[in-house]
Amino acid sequence: MGDSYGRVAKKLRIQVTDRCNYSCDFCMPLHPEWLNRSEILTFEEITRTARLLATMGVERIRLSGGEPLVRQDVEKLVRLLADIRGIKNVSITTNGPMLKKMAGRLRENGLAGVTVSLHSLKPDRYEAITGARDMLPRVLDGMEEARRVGLALKVNCVVRRGDNEDELLDFARLARDWNVTVRFIEYMPFDGRRLWDADRVLSGAEIMGRVQAVYRLSPVARERGATASTYKFADGSAGEVGTVTSMTQPFCGSCDRIRLTADGKMVPCLFSMEEYDVKSLLRGGARDEEIANYIRRCFWLKFEGVESLLRQNATFKHVRPMNTIGG
Ligand code: SAM
Ligand code: SF4
Repeated sequence: MGDSYGRVAKKLRIQVTDRCNYSCDFCMPLHPEWLNRSEILTFEEITRTARLLATMGVERIRLSGGEPLVRQDVEKLVRLLADIRGIKNVSITTNGPMLKKMAGRLRENGLAGVTVSLHSLKPDRYEAITGARDMLPRVLDGMEEARRVGLALKVNCVVRRGDNEDELLDFARLARDWNVTVRFIEYMPFDGRRLWDADRVLSGAEIMGRVQAVYRLSPVARERGATASTYKFADGSAGEVGTVTSMTQPFCGSCDRIRLTADGKMVPCLFSMEEYDVKSLLRGGARDEEIANYIRRCFWLKFEGVESLLRQNATFKHVRPMNTIGG
């Protein structure tokens, strides 16, 4: 399945719920309006859509949210998706505190990997960012459990100037100590509270400059379609650090992602308002072929991406709160 810029869809991100047990200030609106249960795709509807996408070349699925682990029986969805012919990898992005309890079940049901979002290693700051009290130790326990049961583990850290920028080296040390990839994410304008400001974006280049002032790094070859630029430690230590430079050095030219929202919209690009209602087809008795053709058309229309915004010197707009799309 290709778009008009020659990009090909290989990865599907599924927002399994818009709800969350956290309230991160760069994501969740202050007064979120949750979707009604009836508006949310059932596991059967999600699986049918994913199966169609797999026949069109999608190979990897990531579950996100809101917080994907708060969706009841999410491990059953993992099983259904992992069993689809052509799907090589199912993973989850999570805030982490429920992992300790769920990692084993998720692994048994075919989950390959987990990315834990961790924005501070200081308990007070962690609480200030996420609104979640005393959760940091639980998240670290969850990460340990994920590793113990054999899930591939990564860490995502959203960096904001004037906030957690003083912890970059602590996170680099975490990468080394845990033998894990820590990816520093540039702050994107999808915060439900509309606090985003270009001045608060710490660029990937600046982030890596600060890490490199202490640790010599060597670049890891970038896979086509990868969102992160990743580096190994040149002293041979375990672990990796990387940046996701969606704002300052976008990678839209090789983007191979398409998204499905909890309420059944296909969203080809995070930075575009365009979304296409697949749920009406799923619930309106459409045949597989009709749904597949519809999805093909929406992907064809995929927005060129941030590179075009930068070229036009356009100002970034808030498109939607991150919890309503899943990152
Ligand atoms: N609740 C899960 C979590 O936090 O990992 C999954 C959903 S969350 C919306 C997906 C990812 O988006 C997380 O890594 C989160 O840190 C990131 N994120 C949320 N708001 C963001 C923003 N304004 N800019 C950059 N990344 C953001
Ligand atoms: Fe919830 Fe994840 Fe958004 Fe934080 S970033 S509020 S954990 S969905």
